[in-house]
Amino acid sequence: MNVRVKNPSVSPFKQGGENEVRVRFAPSPTGFLHVGGARTAIFNWLFARKHRGQFFLRIEDTDVARSGEEMVRAIFNGLQWLGLDWDGEVVFHSQRFGVYKVLAEQLVQQKKAYRCFCSAEKLQADREQAVQEKRTYKYDRACLRLSEDEIRARESAGQPYVIRLKVRDGQTAFRDAVYGDVKFENQQLDDFILLRSDGLPTYHLAVVVDDKHMHITHVIRGDDHLSNTPKHILLYEAFGWAPPVFAHVPLILGPDKQRLSKRHGATSIEEYEKAGYLPDAVFNFLTLLGWSPGDDREIFSRAELIEAFDLSGISKKSAVFDERKLEWMNGQYLNAMSVEEFAVLMIKRLQEAGLPDVGKSEVCSKVAALIKPRVRRLTEIPGMTSYFFHDPVSYDEKGAAKYWRDAEVVSVFEQISDRLADLNVFNAANIEHVFRSLAEELGVPAAQIIHPTRLALTGQTSSPGLFEIIEILGKDTVARRLQKAVAFLQIHTPAIQAAAEV
Ligand code: GLU
Repeated sequence: MNVRVKNPSVSPFKQGGENEVRVRFAPSPTGFLHVGGARTAIFNWLFARKHRGQFFLRIEDTDVARSGEEMVRAIFNGLQWLGLDWDGEVVFHSQRFGVYKVLAEQLVQQKKAYRCFCSAEKLQADREQAVQEKRTYKYDRACLRLSEDEIRARESAGQPYVIRLKVRDGQTAFRDAVYGDVKFENQQLDDFILLRSDGLPTYHLAVVVDDKHMHITHVIRGDDHLSNTPKHILLYEAFGWAPPVFAHVPLILGPDKQRLSKRHGATSIEEYEKAGYLPDAVFNFLTLLGWSPGDDREIFSRAELIEAFDLSGISKKSAVFDERKLEWMNGQYLNAMSVEEFAVLMIKRLQEAGLPDVGKSEVCSKVAALIKPRVRRLTEIPGMTSYFFHDPVSYDEKGAAKYWRDAEVVSVFEQISDRLADLNVFNAANIEHVFRSLAEELGVPAAQIIHPTRLALTGQTSSPGLFEIIEILGKDTVARRLQKAVAFLQIHTPAIQAAAEV
């Protein structure tokens, strides 16, 4: 797999300097890299880079059946597209199943965890009874009461078991860097499972063991894990390990204030790439979802973000994903590019849209300069520029009904054509003069000439400035297109007028 490793010599399991900041992004590969995950990855990356620490990538594939290589690849691709490089090798839970098992057994030996032989049927029946009695289900600890002999007998008989943590009484408290002091009553917690009957770890066991073995100092993750954190703290306690700092990042909501989901449109990073967004714009935009620099700056370079980022700027309040803002921001990034950089992207999009030779055209950089301030997404480019590279194949129908219903249009086109042909210097200023003087002579507003001509030359009703377009198209092309429009109108004017009546 093509993986971007910033620092291949760094081992995720070997601690660096004493105060080294070490964070990780730990996606479960049960789906593509989604917006929320990407934002969590960005926060971790910024934090690591700010503190000159390490940013690790860990694939949490404890759920073997639901994890796929395709998803892992999509996560790598998404992170690389966003420009997030990680340090050292990627860690996979699935390569460490033996480690978790040994540690779970160790907790059993120390009587901090116990084997539970209860059948799925018994647990289900208990659960149903709890529902009937309208109480929260909690495992009844039946197996905690088994004698040593009984446990040994069941084990020798090959009876399957899980390992559960013996959750102590009292409270579990921790200080979250975003939520502040958080306290949970342990009574509300089950003796949760650490190791399943097939010997595979649960997420809780794997995440704590790996965070410890990777010397993670700060766990920055989605606040859907806030309620898992007391379990993790209890596990740290059981192992006798000091927990890392936790920072739970608020959810991302759709415009309707519901959790962002497919219903709201694209949620995977790949879809944003396809939709014509720039990685830098998406990066900048996601950083501002749930984090604020404390002032109202919105456009940041990566270096500025690294400098400004801090856990104290993360808000508890859920962030709302507003795609229009992303579009605006993308437009800002596109416009800030040099014409040459923008032209490269423009040519690529046009080639993909079926114009393979477009790069050879001399007008590319002029077109790029003209449309750069108007584009918000790269996908808009073919629609906005194709007329520079081939004559319109059709004319906007509503535009025709609006601007071409008057029979005079033909004569206007002929006059424009003649006057443009006579220009010695074919530039926007002289072209504008042709339009304005003709309008004056005809006693009509210039717009009355400009709109019909735009439709004839571009097939569209909106475009950047017409005079600049005419300059770029050149005399011959303009003359040919006006001629074509005249020929079209000679046949279609009655139909256009009829359509305009309706
Ligand atoms: N694998 C978890 C997830 O994808 C993240 C767990 C964590 O960051 O601790 O939600």
